[in-house]
Amino acid sequence: MTVNLLEFDRNGFARYCADIGEKPFRARQLMHWIHQSGVDDFDAMSDISKPLRERLKATAEIRAPRVARDSTAADGTRKWLLDVDTGNAIEAVFIPERNRGTLCISSQAGCALECTFCSTGRQGFNRNLTVAEIIGQLWQANRDLGRGVTAQRPISNVVMMGMGEPLANFDNVVAAMQLMLDDDAYGLSRRRVTLSTSGLVPAIDRLRDTCPVALAVSLHAPNDALRNELVPINRKYPLRDLLAACVRYIEKAPRDFVTFEYVMLAGVNDSVGHARQLVKLVQSVPCKINLIPFNPFPQSGYERSDAATVERFRDALMQAALTATVRKTRGDDIDAACGQLAGQVQDKTRRRQRRVAAATL
Ligand code: SAH
Ligand code: SF4
Repeated sequence: MTVNLLEFDRNGFARYCADIGEKPFRARQLMHWIHQSGVDDFDAMSDISKPLRERLKATAEIRAPRVARDSTAADGTRKWLLDVDTGNAIEAVFIPERNRGTLCISSQAGCALECTFCSTGRQGFNRNLTVAEIIGQLWQANRDLGRGVTAQRPISNVVMMGMGEPLANFDNVVAAMQLMLDDDAYGLSRRRVTLSTSGLVPAIDRLRDTCPVALAVSLHAPNDALRNELVPINRKYPLRDLLAACVRYIEKAPRDFVTFEYVMLAGVNDSVGHARQLVKLVQSVPCKINLIPFNPFPQSGYERSDAATVERFRDALMQAALTATVRKTRGDDIDAACGQLAGQVQDKTRRRQRRVAAATL
């Protein structure tokens, strides 16, 4: 059977080399070739002996998901649609800024959590991505963005904010993040890798103990009644428990705050009253609040709050001495903005069918 070397983190490479009777330093060589030089051809691995290269060619491969489409927006935002098997495609997005370049990565084909304002959530869930499919997004983007060994890195930050709930695919996401952090692979600091979650409380604690990267939490509502509606997982892990988990997380986090994401939905969660409630809610959590203008998609049923409303909301937070920013919307013309990543998912949860049925009742 052919093994895909993109499946391995450091431990995986070490085990693999031991299994094939190779010395441990080979693991490091392979990691450099694959993740730093972006090589997928064993013949290019010039410091690896010919017999070993032949053996690798016969038994292993370096295979990222196939690029089905690659588009660049007017503002330089670039989006890859990646085929992860028949009927499923995921998306990764690169957002260039003056002093950094951020790659937004997907963790699942679809998402099971059904947040009402999210197009990934609307289309149902198919499956977790493998380690190769997750790290393959970074591997592919790095290659396409022309990172040579000596070139300046185009990708300085990674955010797990694409399709899917990363903490619902815990082991594979952590293995992929270990590669992002590993000096023999991508060598990013923990502060430059951010995981965004809708709030799976036990998994936030596990992350704290295994791989504490920067944490973003999708709050979106200042009370349980509204959050139960917008982010249904709140019924299982209500705000009180979620905020307590955030405080525990900060003890181990690479930053001394948690980022709360708050999507601005016109007439739903965007009043000054909501802002005041939010101030009270988060008072015991060191945090920054990132207001995200809602990105519309067909039949979403929601509208984006207008700029004046967003400004009023932000001012109410800032008056209470909270740090609040408004996220710039990027890549609009290629549907690459937050919450618009739809890819193509074979919906095992049959959510689409249920929605159509409900609509025709
Ligand atoms: N599942 C994770 C990460 C992926 S979503 C999570 O929910 O946090 C990344 C961010 O985009 C989340 O804050 C999510 O709530 C937000 N988002 C989803 N749909 C959106 C939309 N239509 N417009 C703006 N932001 C959206
Ligand atoms: Fe899933 Fe995040 Fe979308 Fe909610 S917002 S449905 S958790 S991807």
